[in-house]
Formats: sequence, C-alpha cells, structure tokens
Amino acid sequence: MTLRGRLTTAFLVVVLGPVLLGSIFVALTVATVSRDRTAERLDHAASTVRTGIAAACLRLQAAADAVAVVPSGDRGNVVGQLVKRGLATDIRIDGTAPPATGDCASPAPHFGNTPMNTISARAVTGDVVVTAEQSVDTAFMDRLEAAGGTEVTFTSTEQPDGERRELIPQTGQPLALTLTVPPSEPTFLYVVLPVAVLVAALAAVLVARRLAHSTTRPLGDLAWAADRVADGELDTRVPIPHPDELGRLAATFNRMTRELQAYVQALTASRDQLRGHLAILGETLSSTHDLHRILQVILRTALAATGARAGLVLLIDRPTGELVAQCGIGLAGRWDVPESELPEQRLPVGEGVLGAVAASGEPRRGRGELASAEPPCRTYVAVPICAPGVPEEPGDPVPFPETLGVLALYDRVGGDAFDDSDLSTLRTFAGQAGVAVHNVRMHEEAQRLSLTDPLTGLWNYRYLRESLRREVERASRFGRMLAVLVLDLDHFKDVNDTYGHAAGDAVLGEFARRIRIGLREVDVAFRQGGEEFVVLLPETDAYGGAIVAERLGAAVRDRPVVVEGTQIPISVSIGVAVFPEHGENSPQVLAAADRALYAAKRAGRDTFRLAEPGDVTKSVVSPGDHEGDFHPTTAVPTGTRPPQHRRGR
Ligand code: GH3
Ligand code: MG
Ligand code: MG
Repeated sequence: MTLRGRLTTAFLVVVLGPVLLGSIFVALTVATVSRDRTAERLDHAASTVRTGIAAACLRLQAAADAVAVVPSGDRGNVVGQLVKRGLATDIRIDGTAPPATGDCASPAPHFGNTPMNTISARAVTGDVVVTAEQSVDTAFMDRLEAAGGTEVTFTSTEQPDGERRELIPQTGQPLALTLTVPPSEPTFLYVVLPVAVLVAALAAVLVARRLAHSTTRPLGDLAWAADRVADGELDTRVPIPHPDELGRLAATFNRMTRELQAYVQALTASRDQLRGHLAILGETLSSTHDLHRILQVILRTALAATGARAGLVLLIDRPTGELVAQCGIGLAGRWDVPESELPEQRLPVGEGVLGAVAASGEPRRGRGELASAEPPCRTYVAVPICAPGVPEEPGDPVPFPETLGVLALYDRVGGDAFDDSDLSTLRTFAGQAGVAVHNVRMHEEAQRLSLTDPLTGLWNYRYLRESLRREVERASRFGRMLAVLVLDLDHFKDVNDTYGHAAGDAVLGEFARRIRIGLREVDVAFRQGGEEFVVLLPETDAYGGAIVAERLGAAVRDRPVVVEGTQIPISVSIGVAVFPEHGENSPQVLAAADRALYAAKRAGRDTFRLAEPGDVTKSVVSPGDHEGDFHPTTAVPTGTRPPQHRRGR
C-alpha cells in the first residue's frame, strides 16, 4: 500500500469514525427523545381526555339531578331547557339507558367490542329515575381529539399505526378509548441522517484524497530529486510550495544539494589542480636533474595536496652537519628572503623541530611550538627526506635509509591542524624528493666519474675540451685573459722501463697531486692522456702563466717521487699559451701551448716555453713551428691577479 493510500485510509478513519459514531448517537438520542415525547403527549392526552369525559359526566349528572329535583310538572320544561343549552343531548325520565351506553357512575369494564354511542348519568328521586345522556358522536370525538392533541378512537375499532395509549373505563369515564400519536418525525430523521452521513463520507473521501495528495506530492518530488542526485545530477532542485514542514525539508534538501555541488566543484577543481601539479612533477622528475627545480615542484605539489599556506625544503650539508634551506614558499620572519638567499638560512641538525626530524628520521606535527629560529607558524608538519634504501647486492637486507633533509609544511588554510592523511601525503612527496635528491647526486657522481681520470683524480680530456671552450668564451665575453699550460713528463718511458709500469702509475698520481696543490682554487688541471697534462689559469696573462709553469717545474724537479722506498727523479716540460694573445679560440690556444711544449722539449726539457706571440691565424701547426724561447726574467708581460671567487669542480 502506498503512503498516499495509507494517509487516505488514516484520514478516513479519523474523520469518518467520529461522524458515524456521532450519527448513531444522534439517531439513538433522537429515537429516545421522540419516544419520551410521544409518551408525554399520550400522558397529557389521556389526562385531558379523561378530564373532558369526566366533565361531560359531571354535566350529565348535574342535568339529571336538576331534572330530578324539580316538581314533576316542570320536568318537561327543564329537560327542554337543559337539552337546549347543550348540557345533555337527551334526558329521559323513568327511562332506561339505551344499549351501548356508558354509565358514568358504574361503567362496564367490558362492553364487548361495540363502541359506545352515548354516555349517561342517573339521578333517582323517589321512584323516578332521570337519565341524562350525551351522544358519543363524531363531534364529541373531534372535541376530545382537539383537547388531547391525539387521535382518539374506540378500542374496538381498527387502530392506525403509531404509539398508542388505551384508556380503560372507570368511574367518571365510562368509555374504552385508544389515543394514538402518528410516527411521523423519527421516520423523517432516520432518512435524513444516513443521507447526511453519506454526504459527509463522500466529502471526507474527497478531502482525504486531496490532503494525502498534497502531503505526498512534495515527498514524491523529494524522492525523484534524491534519485537524480544519486545519479550525479547535483543541479537538481525541488519546488518549495508552502513554508510548512515539507517546505522546510525541501529547502534543506536544496541547500544540501547546493552545498554538495559547491563541495564537489571545489573538490574537482582541487583534484584538477593536483593532477596538474602531479603532471608537472612527473615531467620535472623525468626531464631534469636540476635539483632545485625538482624540489620546488615537489614543494608546490605538496602544498596543493594538503592545502598548506607555506612550506620549506632543507637538505643536510654533510661537511657542516647543518640543514640548509633549498627552497621555500610563503615563509615568514627571517625566512622571508629571496630564493637566492635561502641557502644562507641554516639550522644545526638535532636542534629545534626541523633539526630533530633530520636527526631522528621521525616525522613530527603540531601547533606553533617551533623554536624562534624556525619559520613562525600556527601549525606545522615536518617529515624527513630519506634516500631510497637500496641493498648493495641483490638479497642483502635493505639498509636503514640515510636522512638527506627535511620537508616541512606550515599553516593549513582554514586553520585546521595537519592530520594523519596530510602526514602520509607529505611522506609520499618526501619519498619522491628523497629519490630525486639521490638520483641527482648519483647522476652528478656518474657525470663526475665520466669526466675524471681514475688514476690521478684530475679531469679527463673530455672535460678539458668543454672547459677550455667555456673558459675561452667567458674570457672573450669579459675581455679577460686565460693562460693554458701543457705539461709533459720528460723521458717517462724510461721511468716505466726502469721502475715498472706500476711505479710509473704512482709517479703519475704524485705528479697530479703536486699540480693540484700548486694551483689556486680557480685553476683547473686535466690529464690529457698518457703523461701529458693541461692546466687552465683563468684571468691570467703570460706573466702569471710563466710563474705557475716555473713553480710546477720546480715542484717536480726539487723532490724525487718516492715509490716503495725508491726515489725516482722526474722532470717536466711545459708549454704556455695565452688567450687571446696566442689563439682566438680554444683549439688555437691549445695548439699554441703544444707548440711551446715542444719548444721546451727541444730546449733540453725540464723547462717551460711561452708560445710565439702574434700568430693567431694558424689553428693547426706542426710541432716545432712558432715556438720561441721565453725567459720570465726578461720578457714577462704585465700580469693581472684574478679575483678570488669560489668555483667548484
Ligand atoms: P719525452 O721526454 O720526449 O716526453 O719522452 P717520453 O718517454 O716521456 O715520451 P714518450 O711519448 O716516448 O713516452 C711516453 C710514455 O708514457 C710511454 C708510455 O709507456 C708511458 N705512459 C703513457 N701512459 C701511461 C700510464 O698511464 N701509465 C704508465 N705507467 N705509463 C704510461
Ligand atoms: Mg708525451
Ligand atoms: Mg714525455
């Protein structure tokens, strides 16, 4: 049964039940009242009729007495006057009453079934009997009916329908009569009442249907709308017909769907934004080894994923044991500095929240309990950035991951504290940052290995070409000089032949070390191949180059290399060329230095020579051409000391 059917039934029961009960009660009451009223009417009529007949009897008795007391001669005259005045219809002297006469004094209890024609009263005086009679005719009966207000019939005659009361003959009332009240009003009411109940029932059905319809229609609308919302159509709304309870329910439903729609839209937008960030993150991770850019993208994605206002990435600087800020977004206080100055913001590992996270490798989150040295905030969450634990050999246990730094977020938008899901999200991003840092460092190491010479630790020939080109370009752009030294150990074949190849290797290693310690930080040394080396001296002219060549030659010459207790004396020949004096590009300068080296060899070895000045057109020259002897004491050009700035290898 539908809700509408149940409501209709309920309305009908509620409305029709009392109507039916009421109508039954009314019917019963009306019947009782009607019966009581009929009985009263009959009582009244009986009393009136009795009184009327008794009065007639008294009149008759008075007439008979009056006739009896007058002298016999006047009796005829008196009778005539009494009859004439209507006190009796007939007065007989010495007569007997005719049949069917009711005697007022001694009525017959049963007079057969014959209706009385007359009533009579007698008076006896001496031997005279006077009988006064009143005929019971239609006029007499009509008078009785008029006085009693009921129909009056003789008991023996056929009675009409209705309530009745029988009057039995008694002294003073000699007639056997029946009083009848016709059954008119109750019959009419009994017809009207069912009709009224039927009409009320019909009206109740109609009203119940209407009420049930108006009640269930908004519910049906709501069910329909809920179905559509369940199907994803969040713009569904229901009409609000009246401001009643159902109207409030509809308004609440509309508000709920509106907020749900806004929430879903915000969620979709944030998901799209996050997807965009993740796409950028994936692209960045796969396309670059720029660690700073990778960390920036990871930080931005973490902010978007958690709704944090600010964030910071720090990496541990192993030599100093400090956390060094790499990139930050939305930071306040002393951390609100340009990106380039962020690395100056440092925190010791172990100190404060960030230092504790770095030291313990355990994440932390909380509310504004950061030390003043750390970014000020209301809430924070910080997780360690760990290197991926990769076993050295397959099957080895996974080593405890090394902590590389800390990723921290501050102040979630909306003021809520960071929860467990934020922590787990941030750990994911910290994991990616860890892999990225590890990969970049591995890549840098691989690149370094591919560009360095394993025997001496100096840069190799590949890196020489690139560095020389870069340094020449830089010197050209800034109008500076660049000195290039080419060094070749003298008679090194003999060293191998005399002391063995291993000893030769050791000599090469020691020679490289002496070159390194004899150079400034900005100078770069390369092993070109075999026992040939190259040194680049940025912002150095021929004078400076000659001084370095002299110093390096002396560093080799003055102390024999000791290999397993054996002293091996060595010397080196050096060619010096200067950009742009001896070549207008990197191959030309290197070739000029080579030529100078051969000049030094030819000059007897264990010395250096400066390239021939002026000839910069020949990029390829044969050994021996254009070299010239150079004596620093006599032909030293004015040198410029390079500014001391940090340059890593
Ligand atoms: P010069 O004074 O004319 O330079 O004579 P040199 O013997 O040094 O020159 P040469 O080119 O004749 O010989 C170079 C030698 O260097 C030949 C080779 O055995 C040796 N050599 C080259 N590379 C290595 C190396 O990696 N290790 C060792 N032990 N020897 C090497
Ligand atoms: Mg050589
Ligand atoms: Mg040599």
